[in-house]
Amino acid sequence: MTRLVDVRNMARWIADHGPDRCIAGLIEYLDADFRRWEQFDKSPRVASHTPFGVIELMPTSDHETYGFKYVNGHPSNPQRGFQTVTAFGVLADVHNGYPTFLAEMTLLTALRTAATSALIARTLARPDSQVMAMIGTGSQAEFQAMAFREALGITTLRVYDVDPDAIAKFVRNLKPLGFSIEVAANASEAVRGADIVTTCTADKQLATVLHDKDVTEGMHLNAIGGDCPGKTELEPAILDRAKVFVEYTPQTLIEGEIQHQPEGFEVTELWEVLLGRKEGRTSPEDITLFDSVGFAIEDFSALRYLRDQVAGTDYESEIDLVAAPEDPKDLFGMVGAFSPVG
Ligand code: NAD
Repeated sequence: MTRLVDVRNMARWIADHGPDRCIAGLIEYLDADFRRWEQFDKSPRVASHTPFGVIELMPTSDHETYGFKYVNGHPSNPQRGFQTVTAFGVLADVHNGYPTFLAEMTLLTALRTAATSALIARTLARPDSQVMAMIGTGSQAEFQAMAFREALGITTLRVYDVDPDAIAKFVRNLKPLGFSIEVAANASEAVRGADIVTTCTADKQLATVLHDKDVTEGMHLNAIGGDCPGKTELEPAILDRAKVFVEYTPQTLIEGEIQHQPEGFEVTELWEVLLGRKEGRTSPEDITLFDSVGFAIEDFSALRYLRDQVAGTDYESEIDLVAAPEDPKDLFGMVGAFSPVG
């Protein structure tokens, strides 16, 4: 039997434990897996693009466990009553290839994206950071805010979204949780004086959500929404001034803010900083940029964390997913058992 965490139980698990505690635990799993980066199989994700959006498969393995996530990105979905991003994922046992754990990952992706951002900001942002600007207050936004509070103690947010309803939703969800939220009239106003800037918008185009003139020395930029060919958020001039950090360079070159940079453009992978092989921020004046696209190892960590947390609890159930006849060669016999007699 394969263990399953469905949507209802995922939401219940997050609510019961608190999103901040879930994120805190996940940060430690991500940290541990980034530190054993060289053990994993790595490849850019497999993407199927259409005019509507993209559907992607994200596989990896540490040679004991194999994992993959199915995820979509459809920026026009909310106008049609659907979500921009949905996902599910699987862990499998490498020794026999059987799937052992299956989970909804729309909520889990929001947790893992936020936890990854926070892990990286904890490593790269100025330790005295106090104010975060957030451009884009859609599905990911609250999770991002909670992760930055958990990892860096940020409680003051300046937010902007082109959709006033999305801002109202964000304020409604987070005000009661103790955040101080200032709504800005535009992105420039939100960013002014911020220590950290999170861009988390969805638009299938080369957008300029954050302008170079608004980026000042010492900022940490957490650029989440540019994660597909032809879908970026930053004015390219920002990349000339910032130190750029990525998850996995071959994938980020295809999908990230760096997709239009000339060959040989210098980036640092996060795992190298965590292991002390390369420098992160070296001065309070540095502008650090996390060019986030989301990588398979983060989903592997998230599934591994969830699997360990829910083991033996009623958040998980079992699903009969693998056809496993008693005689491993008699697959046909399983059908025969249901054939009409005579
Ligand atoms: P969403 O559609 O729920 O929210 C996006 C928000 O951005 C919307 O409220 C929209 O009104 C706003 N927006 C669009 N253009 C804007 C602009 N120019 N200025 C200000 N606001 C603008 O999407 P989501 O699920 O929150 O995801 C946000 C983005 O993050 C998507 O592009 C998604 O693909 C990406 N994402 C990245 C990762 C990662 O690991 N890097 C993970 C999940 C999602």
